[in-house]
Amino acid sequence: MNYSPHHHCDSFVLEEDRFHEECGVIGIWTTQDAASLAALGLHALQHRGQEASGIVTFDNHNFHVHRGLGLVGEVFADPRIISNLPGGKAIGHNRYATTGSTQLRNVQPLYGDFEFGGFAVAHNGNLTNAQRLKQSLVRRGCLFQSSTDSEVFIHLIAVSLYDTVIDRFIDALKQVQGAYSLVALSKNMLIAARDPLGVRPLILGKLPSIEPSQSWVIASETCALLSMGAEFVRDIEPGEVVIINDEGLRSIKPFSCTSKRFCIFEYVYFARPDSIIDNTSVYDARKRIGAELAQESPIDADVVVPVPDSGVPAALGYAAASHIPFELGIIRSHYIGRTFIEPTDQIRHLGVKLKHSTNRVALKDKKVILIDDSIVRGTTSKKIVEMVRAAGATEVHLRIASPPTKFSCFYGIDTPTQEKLLAYTHTTEDMRQLIGADSLAFVSEDGLYRALGEKSRNKKQPKYCDACFTGDYPIPLIDHDASLAKVK
Ligand code: SF4
Repeated sequence: MNYSPHHHCDSFVLEEDRFHEECGVIGIWTTQDAASLAALGLHALQHRGQEASGIVTFDNHNFHVHRGLGLVGEVFADPRIISNLPGGKAIGHNRYATTGSTQLRNVQPLYGDFEFGGFAVAHNGNLTNAQRLKQSLVRRGCLFQSSTDSEVFIHLIAVSLYDTVIDRFIDALKQVQGAYSLVALSKNMLIAARDPLGVRPLILGKLPSIEPSQSWVIASETCALLSMGAEFVRDIEPGEVVIINDEGLRSIKPFSCTSKRFCIFEYVYFARPDSIIDNTSVYDARKRIGAELAQESPIDADVVVPVPDSGVPAALGYAAASHIPFELGIIRSHYIGRTFIEPTDQIRHLGVKLKHSTNRVALKDKKVILIDDSIVRGTTSKKIVEMVRAAGATEVHLRIASPPTKFSCFYGIDTPTQEKLLAYTHTTEDMRQLIGADSLAFVSEDGLYRALGEKSRNKKQPKYCDACFTGDYPIPLIDHDASLAKVK
């Protein structure tokens, strides 16, 4: 159960819903124009969230907040909005669509007034004990304004018995469990934190400035840096808390970290291909996954065709490894949102037709290898295979650049409940028939790990979180005991 606002009134009701926070975050610490820089960074992180966007700035006297529903370009379309966000310090957030309706009060960053001054928080990820923490905070008299996990941090900081902001922040961090990357802004510091397993990404960059020690950037992905003219410094480490103020940057590690378990699905699908995560180019990783797929599941064909955009690098890798020509047989319109995030099956079905069209020249009378990043519900794959056949392909062989998605994600990626995952309810052969392909193959778990530079998946201690493929959940699912029981 979540405490969340009712859709049609201001009173709070208990809502049966999972709120995921797969998002993009930005933090800026410089001398001026932080809002413009944050907006540029958020624009580069648009793929991590298209539902809503927000920026909080601090101008050394006051905090300023603007949040809205829609894309970054829509929320900050009016230039007066940015000029009304003065100051050299900012945090920003892009929110991904979730189940349930969109509500402004869930749009981050969240802001609160404390005895030590204003404090704003934005986060990407999902707390696996947020509901329990909320229930206990509500019993202690805390009033929740939203159903986002960020508000749990705000309340935990408010009720903490420690004196300093940073001690309160760490006190809050020690009570939460889950996958999160956080940015927070107080009147004298910018704080960034990553969960102890480093499931969600977070990086540190530097802005060129007169006083280099005063110009820092925090971002979900390196692709945000280029748009701001910033340079990459390093990944924020799992379990690390970075504190930035006018004296510079310091790092503390309040957790004893055992191992990293970065989300392998960021490499497969979620991150932007031009990002570099943990010294690995997402683009190169996707090409290597395609090459692994070609080696594991070769087939005689005339063309390799990606399902754009996310299947493109893997298809390039498959084509290069198999020496079969790469062709753009499907053209994607960029002017509607991702079907992955649209809320109903009916609209999702319609969305596929709107989004993809076939390029007959590349498909007619051809044996086609179609490459996609994953199969979630299967609706998209079925429709695309039908379209490719209708364009004259004589055979359609579907190759998937990830293992079968059989398990839901509880760490911030908005996969549907397990019963809706096609690979959970169907064998590969049943999936093939349902989708209507001539053959269907997924990259193996070991193949995926090989593409990321490992010999194979170490079953005792896998290097990545891969729970949506393996069911091996590295963080306890405290709020989701029922779901876990179902999974096992
Ligand atoms: Fe990523 Fe899958 Fe783990 Fe979720 S369950 S964090 S999508 S690897």
